[in-house]
Amino acid sequence: MELTINKTRLSLVQGDITQSDTDAIVNAANPGLMGGGGVDGAIHRAGGPAILEECRQIRAERGRLPTGQAVITTGGKLRAKHVIHTVGPVWHGGDSGEAELLASAYRESLKLAVERALKTVSFPSISTGVYGYPVAPAAKVALQTVIDFLNRDESLGEVVFVLFDSTTCRAYETALQELAPGGK
Ligand code: ADP
Repeated sequence: MELTINKTRLSLVQGDITQSDTDAIVNAANPGLMGGGGVDGAIHRAGGPAILEECRQIRAERGRLPTGQAVITTGGKLRAKHVIHTVGPVWHGGDSGEAELLASAYRESLKLAVERALKTVSFPSISTGVYGYPVAPAAKVALQTVIDFLNRDESLGEVVFVLFDSTTCRAYETALQELAPGGK
């Protein structure tokens, strides 16, 4: 499913984000930046040790990465030249600022991409794995945040959501149809 928001193509695909050939892929990292399970583990395995090496340097200079913030490293052996590491919120029931923190994770990742003059970015479904954010509300926050950003900033060519499983992909399609009718 895809549509154009302002000047940017926004698309949803089912797949493995480690295979994306966008300028950057976004990692749903944890504050320690030392790798982990899920998409984080897959990105480090596919990209090789250069990514972890830069994460270690960032960690040494700045300490743990707060929830909702983002940093950028090399993509190592990935097709994407860069990995943007962001930390989504752990789901605690929805009354602990989760939606705003999730929005911040997407916004800060997009800001970094624009600052580095990157043109294309892929996102996974941040926080909906181990961090337990229910996928339907997470999809709404993710897409609304990206759409709001693209309506203000025209510099990106494409934003792709690469969703690992069909249930997640369908949840994002439903959310996008509600937020921006007219996509196909
Ligand atoms: P979090 O800790 O932020 O919840 P997870 O990695 O546990 O992050 O899960 C986030 C989403 O990423 C889940 O929908 C999971 O299925 C998905 N995922 C796992 N591996 C990949 C991959 N290789 N490409 C894209 N998405 C992936």
